[in-house]
Amino acid sequence: MSLEEARKLAYIAAAGNALKYGEARVNPVLGKILGAMPQLRSRAKEVRRLVEEVVAEVNQLPKEELIKIAGRVKEKKRAKEERRWPELVNYSKYDRVVTRVAPEPNGYPTLGHAKGLLIPFIYARLYKGVFQLRFEDTNPRVERLEYYDAIRSEFAELLEATSEELGIGPPKWDVEIIESNDLPVFYKLCRKLLEEGKAYVCTCSQEKVRANRKLGLECECRRRGVEENLELWELMHTTLREGEAHVRLKTDMKHKNPTMRDPGIFRIIEAEHPIQGTKYRVYPTYDFSISVEDSLTGVTHAFRSKEFEPHVEVQKTIIRYLGLREFEMIQFGRITVEGVPLSKRYIRPLIKSGILWGWDDPRIPTLRGLKRRGVSFRALARFIFEMGPSKVDAIVNMESIYALNRKILDPIAERYMFVPDPVKLVVEGSELPEDAELPKHPSNPSLGTRRVKLWPKSGRLEVYVPSSDLKSLRAGERIRLWSLATIKLTSVMPDMAKGELAEHQLGVPIVQWTPVEGCVPMEVVYPDSIFSYRVLSGFGDPGIRELKEGSIVQLLRVGFARIDSHGRVTRGILAHR
Ligand SMILES: [Zn+2]
Repeated sequence: MSLEEARKLAYIAAAGNALKYGEARVNPVLGKILGAMPQLRSRAKEVRRLVEEVVAEVNQLPKEELIKIAGRVKEKKRAKEERRWPELVNYSKYDRVVTRVAPEPNGYPTLGHAKGLLIPFIYARLYKGVFQLRFEDTNPRVERLEYYDAIRSEFAELLEATSEELGIGPPKWDVEIIESNDLPVFYKLCRKLLEEGKAYVCTCSQEKVRANRKLGLECECRRRGVEENLELWELMHTTLREGEAHVRLKTDMKHKNPTMRDPGIFRIIEAEHPIQGTKYRVYPTYDFSISVEDSLTGVTHAFRSKEFEPHVEVQKTIIRYLGLREFEMIQFGRITVEGVPLSKRYIRPLIKSGILWGWDDPRIPTLRGLKRRGVSFRALARFIFEMGPSKVDAIVNMESIYALNRKILDPIAERYMFVPDPVKLVVEGSELPEDAELPKHPSNPSLGTRRVKLWPKSGRLEVYVPSSDLKSLRAGERIRLWSLATIKLTSVMPDMAKGELAEHQLGVPIVQWTPVEGCVPMEVVYPDSIFSYRVLSGFGDPGIRELKEGSIVQLLRVGFARIDSHGRVTRGILAHR
């Protein structure tokens, strides 16, 4: 590192300093440089001279110039962040990048969906393109209206948080598409394939189709003429029953990719569709609907989870057979969470059997579960951004998400007190305080303070403190009630202690407390593993009653917690420490 680099850094630091305080000063700038370039410490005198020159120069500059210099760092930082995401393939081939997220409304979104949402969203915003939300709703048996709504509202919230966290926008999808509205178009395209002999109606049983596919054998249906195929296609919409017929793409029954062996593209599903009702009974398979809809709606870069990789060939063949517009298909790796199931298949029975409270159980990484636990969506956005669009499958440890959450919450979460396993402490004396003024945040005074009334009566002030703290103390020792007073204990019994106001001393343990009068019966849930949780009971300080359900606070010496509900007992859920 040279003095030249130190000079560059000095300009930036001095400009930032001048913008913040109206004038740049030598010492903070010098400190910054020696902090960033410790190898220059031995040349501190030279560096100081250099900084003095730069500071003098910078203090002559107009404000616009300062903003430009200081802004360079920000731009550099942003450029660096963008660079960490690989360039979008062939983006220059297209006038405008169009991406989409295509969830199936068959359940509540999870952390895995969050990745599927944010990758195309972030790319669309980085490339100033269009972002679509498309409901991939062509399997009516598992789809429900409430899932459309959950996806809409939870995705909107996550995009809002992502835009805020990463400084990109607009924060919502630009277009919403309901795929099932396009079924008539899909039917036309299927008819076309049948007319051109590129597809046929197969009336074999599922078992036979499966066995033939394994062995690479063709069935008789493959030799049906166009007329007969079209007739059967019509019957699929009217009298044929589910399972009696399906349409297959004519490819190659000996293809080396088994998925490519005459894949099914349309089948009968006799179930009521949440939006279309009973209007339709023939539905396309995933391969057909996703690729055709991507092409028809102008998607330029279609992101898919890597598990569908063997299907890419099928999808490309469908597009080619139909002569539709081609686009880029990009795979990304899946997320699995250490020790926690993400799949509906595993979660559903745990809910049914009562082991989990529901889809919003704070122990599972559904978006609503994470929210209920107090994980900010900004932390999720940051987490997925840092993971990037990699093709590698990732095993996620929830602790890394909690660490990001802590970083976001720590400067803003207000401090409250929860006293688990409480024991009464009676403070005796003639001049007891009437109330306590508690800082909402110990290092962020801009959040202000709050008052807690103490109700002292005839020389006695009664508070609750955690029994675990009193257990280790004896008469004569001191204890500090957080932000209130230091108490010298005069007697300690298992179920009660007495004390008096005293001078503070170094090393006195600080404990959370609440006045007995006005305290809030409270329980805090500690979600341990997917199969277990603990509940600690006690009292919260009176301010907790005023908190809105859903607020996230830091409970002193306990951890970050979300106020879940107020009832006879206020319930908090511990997010993490
Ligand atoms: Zn057949």
